[in-house]
Amino acid sequence: MALLGLALWCGALAGLLEVAAVVVHKRFLDTNKLLNMSRHFIWLVPLTDLLIFLLVGLAGSAALLLKRSGGRWVTVRVLGALTLLPALLVVFPQIYGLAWLLVALGISARVVPILERHGAGVRRVTVGSAPILALTVAALAAVPWAADRMAQARERARPIPAGSPNVLLIVMDTVAADHLDLYGYARPTSPAIDEIARRGSRFDAAQPTSSWTLASHASMFTGRWPHDLSVGWHTPLDDAEPTVAEFLRRHGYATAGFIANTTYCAADSGLGRGFTVYRDFQFAELSPFRMAVMVRRSLEGLQVFAETIGDTLDLGWLKSGATRVVERFESDRKEAAAVNRELLDWLANRPQPERPFFAFLNYFDAHSPYQLGPRRVHRFGVKPTEEREYRLIRDWWDLDKTRVAPRDLAFALDAYDDCVASIDEQVGKLFDDLGRRGILEHTWVILLSDHGESFGEHTGVYLHGSSLYQTELHVPLIVVPPAGTRVRPLVAETVSLRNIAATIADIAGPGADSQFPGNSLARLWAPSSPEPGNTGVGEGALAELVPNETLGSPPADPSRRPTPLAALAEEGWSYIRREGDRHEELYHLRDDPKEQNNVAASAEDRPRLERMRQAVSRMTGGPLTTDRFNP
Ligand SMILES: [Zn+2]
Repeated sequence: MALLGLALWCGALAGLLEVAAVVVHKRFLDTNKLLNMSRHFIWLVPLTDLLIFLLVGLAGSAALLLKRSGGRWVTVRVLGALTLLPALLVVFPQIYGLAWLLVALGISARVVPILERHGAGVRRVTVGSAPILALTVAALAAVPWAADRMAQARERARPIPAGSPNVLLIVMDTVAADHLDLYGYARPTSPAIDEIARRGSRFDAAQPTSSWTLASHASMFTGRWPHDLSVGWHTPLDDAEPTVAEFLRRHGYATAGFIANTTYCAADSGLGRGFTVYRDFQFAELSPFRMAVMVRRSLEGLQVFAETIGDTLDLGWLKSGATRVVERFESDRKEAAAVNRELLDWLANRPQPERPFFAFLNYFDAHSPYQLGPRRVHRFGVKPTEEREYRLIRDWWDLDKTRVAPRDLAFALDAYDDCVASIDEQVGKLFDDLGRRGILEHTWVILLSDHGESFGEHTGVYLHGSSLYQTELHVPLIVVPPAGTRVRPLVAETVSLRNIAATIADIAGPGADSQFPGNSLARLWAPSSPEPGNTGVGEGALAELVPNETLGSPPADPSRRPTPLAALAEEGWSYIRREGDRHEELYHLRDDPKEQNNVAASAEDRPRLERMRQAVSRMTGGPLTTDRFNP
């Protein structure tokens, strides 16, 4: 039993050291400031380490029971090494795990005999400190819980605004407008959204401020262009600019976010600021254990081992077996149906149903890998059956797409359309549910996407966050008003989604003092609004991007190294320029919606080019440079 107690003591210490190492590493050493973990890691990591050490302790105790001499000797040294290992792995992630294990075993082999010579004293310290370790883990577990309770109490104490409507913002992550039949796509991918759009206003030329998640969302929440914000591929949104959720909460709204994109929308992205309730990681199957570095690194090791041995000895079962094990620890991809369920549960259990709400949903189903959930319908593609197809979908993000065969590209595109149609089905179900509960009566719903998706329409351009072409920038935007409010069915004017913050503040009521940059789009959908183009709302839709070098295969040609891009869309034209060498592209979207014919050099369109170039320079306040994105 003494051995088991020692194992648990070491486990608690290892867990707390690992948490401290994560905090220090992120704060001072790592250039990637995103945690990529749930905020509950502070207690789930020590708990996982405790379980691992319990297993080691049990194995050691079993060896003792079997009267294996030396069982205790080995176990104590292994426990000593494992106590040091997690913190080392966290602080120096670039070094092989196996190398650290050997180092830790070496240190343990030296230190344990010294400690054993002072047996009585060491026992006193471990026994004496055990309650402190246990209490610390319990206190860490209480931190997120207490923070939530306090935020809820503060929300309940605020006066309830009279007559304010609810606002529901639904972001269909990665859904390109050009893949919805609502916007003219040949496949019936959006029957439900089509139906919903008839009750509201459809914007035909809406554009995000960038072609990737965090920059796009951060602009929608603050009204600021990306170059004014702290967000980068590895940098969260800081608290320099107020968010629309903070604004509405201050005005007495209940605020809640239910998000599935845990890479760039989880609480660590900064987008959760202002939301009293924020549900990101859902902890399916064994995924909570993956936060502990020993589990994560062991799974990586297992996969490399299975791939290498499996390929060498042609053991397919080994590779697929390892993949299945790893997937049980990774199955935290939240489907749209689960996001809907979270929202509906929250609505049903609100302590003050009379308080207006601002809810934000983010669906991730159309984001690569384009994998449908087990019970979903494959409408346009076939379910991957062969290992090759399965891997094609799973590894699409990292694949060198220049080597992908046309039929594989078609397979991936079918899979994406399946995912888009699946989101459409879930949007329809959510509207049915909200309608049955009478919530749509007094709710504004804003349905949009944060960016589109490329499939090689331009040479070498795939996924998103890789270009500022319309494949990645043309997004759906539908506004459905509360019952009895008339809106213009169609808005043709080009609008930027950076206006979403000002728009939400406006329709919620207290907009006059919101001070979010940009303009409310409400003027455009008002039935009495002037003809498109004369409203003064459209300032042109600016978009900015520093391509992510880790995306796909970096160009071999050094002149095509990622450099910031700026783009402007207005009045049926799109202008794109590369800030490094000032390469420019100009497309007339009405004649050339797929942007195949660059007219930047045409004399006829020279005045337009000049005007758009100057507009971009004015809006960005000078050329965009990488350091302007990540100050
Ligand atoms: Zn996104």
